[in-house]
Amino acid sequence: MSNTVARAQGSHNPWQVTSATIVRIDREAPDVSTYELRMADPVQAESFQPGQFNMLYVPGIGEAAISISGKTNDGLLQHTVRTVGAVTAALERGGVGFSLGVRGPFGTPWPVDRLRPSPSSTPADRRDVILVAGGIGLAPLRSVITHLIQHRDEVNQVDVLLGARTPSDLIYASEFEAWADHGIRLQTTVDRADATWSGHVGVVTVLLDRLAIEQPESTILMTCGPEVMMRFVVQAASARGIPESNAWVTLERNMNCAIGLCGHCQLGPEFVCKDGPVFRYDRISTWFHVQGL
Ligand SMILES: Cc1cc2nc3c(=O)[nH]c(=O)nc-3n(C[C@H](O)[C@H](O)[C@H](O)COP(=O)(O)OP(=O)(O)OC[C@H]3O[C@@H](n4cnc5c(N)ncnc54)[C@H](O)[C@@H]3O)c2cc1C
Repeated sequence: MSNTVARAQGSHNPWQVTSATIVRIDREAPDVSTYELRMADPVQAESFQPGQFNMLYVPGIGEAAISISGKTNDGLLQHTVRTVGAVTAALERGGVGFSLGVRGPFGTPWPVDRLRPSPSSTPADRRDVILVAGGIGLAPLRSVITHLIQHRDEVNQVDVLLGARTPSDLIYASEFEAWADHGIRLQTTVDRADATWSGHVGVVTVLLDRLAIEQPESTILMTCGPEVMMRFVVQAASARGIPESNAWVTLERNMNCAIGLCGHCQLGPEFVCKDGPVFRYDRISTWFHVQGL
C-alpha cells in the first residue's frame, strides 16, 4: 500500500519517513523560526489535528519532535522551532531549499471537538476558551487559534494570554492584528521590558488572575509552556472556578520512537508520545507534581 493511500485510510506506517523541503522561513524571535515545509506526500499536510507533532529527521544527525504550528493556504506545513541542539541547529543551517525527513503526525490533539455546540444548543450555551502560553509554547496553540478563527461561531469569548522573556521573544507578533479582527482577545506580558515596551511586566498567571471569567464552570483552558508555568496556570484557573477537568496541558519529554514503544517519554503509566502530548490535567496531575519524572 502506498503511503498516500495508507494515510487516506487512516492507517499510515509510523516508521515511514516522507521527504520534505524547506521553502520559506519566518524569523519569529532571535532563536526561533517558523519553517514552512513542502511535503512530498501532500496528504501528510492535510491530516494533522491541532496539538499533534511531527518527528523532523535530518539525515546523519537525528530526529526531533516538533509541534505542527499550522498550514499555509498553499499547503505548506509549518513548524516553529527554537534552535537548541543538533537537529534544530541543522535546520537553521540548512535554510531554504534544505531537504529533511518527516514522520507523523503523532499524538493527541487539543480538545477542539469539545467546543462544538450540540445541535440543540443556543448561542448562550457556547463556551468561553482561554489559551495560556509561555514563549514558544504558543506554537502548538497557534493551530487552535486558527481553528477557532475558522469556527468562530462555535465558541463565545476567546482569550489568549501570552508571556515571554522579553518583547523580542513574543512569537507570531505579525498575526496579532488578524487575531483581534476575529475577536480573539490577546494580552501579553514579559519578564523583562525594554525601551519599546509599555505593556505588562510579570508572570502570565497575573493576566489570568485579572481576567474577567463569566462562566468558569464551562470555560475550557488550554495551556502550553514550562511545566512550572502550566502548574501555576491550572492552580490560578482552579481558584477562579474553572474545574481541573476543563484544563488541558501539553507535555514535552525526550522522544525517540513517537509511538509508545521505546519508553523514553514515559510519565508514570502514560507515554507522552501516544497518550499525549495533550492531556486533560486531572489525568496526569499526580505525575505532573513529581520532580524528575
Ligand atoms: C511533543 C513535543 C513537541 C515539541 N514541539 C516543539 C516545537 O514546536 N518547537 C520546538 O522548538 N521544540 C519543540 N519540542 C522540543 C524539541 O523536541 C527538543 O528541543 C529537541 O530536543 C530538539 O532537538 P535538537 O536535536 O535540536 O536538540 P538536542 O540535541 O536534543 O538538545 C536539546 C536540549 O535538550 C537537552 N537534552 C537533550 N536530550 C536530553 C535528555 N535525554 N534529557 C535531558 N535533556 C536533554 C540538551 O542538553 C539540550 O539542551 C517538542 C517536544 C515534544 C516532545
